[in-house]
Amino acid sequence: MTSAPPYASLYENDPVYQMAVKQLREAASILGLPDEVVEVLRHPEKLVQVKIVIRRDNGKVETFLGWRSQHNSALGPYKGGIRYAPTVTPGEVVALSMWMTWKNSLAGIPYGGGKGGIRVDPKALSQRELEELSRKYFAALARDVDPDVDIPAPDVNTNPQIMAWYYDEYVKITGRPSYAWGVVTAKPADVGGLNARVVSTGYGVALMAREAAKKLFGGLEGRTVAVHGFGNVGIYTAKYLAEWGATVVAVSDSKGYVYNPKGLNIDKVIEVKEKTGAVTNYREGDVKVSNNHMELLELPVDILVPAAIENVITMENVERVKAKLIVEGANGPTTPEAEKVLHQRGAVIVPDILANAGGVTMSWIEWANNRMGNIMTDQEALERLDRIMTQNFHRVFDEWQKKYSTYPMRMAAYVIAIDRVVRAMKLRGWI
Ligand code: GLU
Repeated sequence: MTSAPPYASLYENDPVYQMAVKQLREAASILGLPDEVVEVLRHPEKLVQVKIVIRRDNGKVETFLGWRSQHNSALGPYKGGIRYAPTVTPGEVVALSMWMTWKNSLAGIPYGGGKGGIRVDPKALSQRELEELSRKYFAALARDVDPDVDIPAPDVNTNPQIMAWYYDEYVKITGRPSYAWGVVTAKPADVGGLNARVVSTGYGVALMAREAAKKLFGGLEGRTVAVHGFGNVGIYTAKYLAEWGATVVAVSDSKGYVYNPKGLNIDKVIEVKEKTGAVTNYREGDVKVSNNHMELLELPVDILVPAAIENVITMENVERVKAKLIVEGANGPTTPEAEKVLHQRGAVIVPDILANAGGVTMSWIEWANNRMGNIMTDQEALERLDRIMTQNFHRVFDEWQKKYSTYPMRMAAYVIAIDRVVRAMKLRGWI
């Protein structure tokens, strides 16, 4: 009999975790996987919890909690980002690490899945406090991460600067700078990174929208797009889609959204966001401004890109979502119930584990580059990414149409991804 690990109580009741397990169970039943295998797959191989104590600028000592979930290593070292947010829970981190296992498997890269997070509001910290927190978190994880074991990267509210601090902390511990390059990806270009990593997740989301638009509308030209979330993923998705002929009519951040049915000047919106911190300060033409970012999801557009956080398309608003094509830039933005409603209506959802795999795939290129002495250019890396992701899109789309079209497209992606993980586990004698 398989029993849950003692730490399962840390995550089992979390709604995001339960959503991830629900998706796993559905795919497992299509694959005919026995319950005992689902039991193995639904728990992480290891869950690390760390206490991080820092001194605030006001002299006071403050404690934060952080986690790293190492979900599955059948296909290689754990790989996935680290997020900083006041809402982070171990359940969310475990769910996201499971999604990384499927994402990396589907991408065909030699990685298992992992994810980390700190429960903190990074906007409330000074740059110095942020550095101390980041260094201490990574030092606390030093025995669990390694270029051959677990390779973190950015996620929500983390960035290349933080990766540089992680790298530096790790070099201090190992004393081996060259070996340590590969311990973290999405580093700044001057510290072993690739500039292409910065644009890669959004670039990949735009690639997936391009390929799906060919299938649904004959191409991107003239199609209207709304992008929910204007962080690293949303910004570059909007930029590339506008460059490739789509009309980006709306973008949002936590403070609200801007909408112009004739299209937004994306370079200008990026400038406004960088200067003022909010897209809602953009004023050009007949732009409509609202402080309720959730309403963006309901705009009459052809393509909707949720690129912020999980759980934004739910039973509460799905009836009002009008887009025919949804491309998931964020991880887990659509609940399984809402997805069924959209599928029945004929909408196509390119699932997160396919749509936003550009980031981690570029991370793999960076990591491989680091191990070979940095031999690839940004241009070569982006071309490689385009080839890999375009090929993967068509493999999933064709398989979906051929065998699983009664289900949302996500199920085809899950079946391919989980099957690969399970085959590796069998070959290695784990199950
Ligand atoms: N955080 C990103 C994701 O969710 C990237 C992970 C990585 O590059 O390892 O896929």
